Amino acid sequence: MSYLLRGMAANGGIRVVAADTTRIVEEIRLMHDASATATAALGRSLTAGILLSHILLKNHQDRISLRFLGDGPIGNVVVDAGLDGNIRAYANNPSIELPLREDGKLDVGSAIGKGELEIIRSHAPKGDEYRSSVSIVSGEVAEDVAQFLAQSEQIASAVLLGVRFKANSTEIMTSAGIILQAMPDADSAALDLLEANVKAFGQLSNKLKTQSLLEVINELCWGLEFELFTKDALPLQFKCRCSDEKALDAIAYFSPSERQELIDQDNGAEVVCHWCNTKRWITAEQIESISKNEIRCPDCDALWYREGQNTMIQANERCACGRKVILPN
Ligand SMILES: [Zn+2]
Ligand SMILES: [Zn+2]
Repeated sequence: MSYLLRGMAANGGIRVVAADTTRIVEEIRLMHDASATATAALGRSLTAGILLSHILLKNHQDRISLRFLGDGPIGNVVVDAGLDGNIRAYANNPSIELPLREDGKLDVGSAIGKGELEIIRSHAPKGDEYRSSVSIVSGEVAEDVAQFLAQSEQIASAVLLGVRFKANSTEIMTSAGIILQAMPDADSAALDLLEANVKAFGQLSNKLKTQSLLEVINELCWGLEFELFTKDALPLQFKCRCSDEKALDAIAYFSPSERQELIDQDNGAEVVCHWCNTKRWITAEQIESISKNEIRCPDCDALWYREGQNTMIQANERCACGRKVILPN
């Protein structure tokens, strides 16, 4: 089972959030048939996403979307995580593979490339989104997340992320992450000790070969009296929110003539969820039902209104083509 641990050290001066995401990352690897480099990028990013949700969110229903929008061959890497422990993630090109770096490690930084790391907090059910972003530092994920916390949130932190594969295998052995966050009232001697501990620590995925996640936290917090708050670890799971209804919504974004083409050519359409790769067949009848619930501009075909959605364009406004919008009540 994948799980999350939370606690404090140094008398409340240091917050610790840690997650073992081995099972979820293996599940995603198989789901997307992801290469080793893409799996490492996805694993580090999704572990960071779930850890950040515990640092930045307060309400149980709120969610975080973490997005690496880089110019590397993997395309965008996107994670959706919340305090309910439900996580999902995808990359645009999960099958790309790159040569190993000179030090023999997977080249996640080149896969992601240069660009932006964007974090969106969405407040459920209909609250405003809050977006913030920083430039990608290295694309190695941990460094980028630490930079985001420092620049955008004024939070000093140490971020450790590690994905390790079984020897001579594409299967995941461990995937885990830890964020140690300095609280505003932290004692400076405690922070100095933490910094020294982190420097001496080495690589997370190496440590996890012989130690449990809790033992690793205690080593990082040596001399700082770590106190575990989650006596029962919080379970984490991959969970997608796709549905037949959302698949139909996706087709509704096509124009009526494009939808007619889907009906004429294939008598329906296949919709693939980019999060979980589930394929759904939408029948011709379902596609035809869309037009009963929408109103379009008679001149230019622009969508004015769709049932179940917030008003897209108000009555008496001008359509993009210039025609005055008239909506029935
Ligand atoms: Zn899905
Ligand atoms: Zn129009």
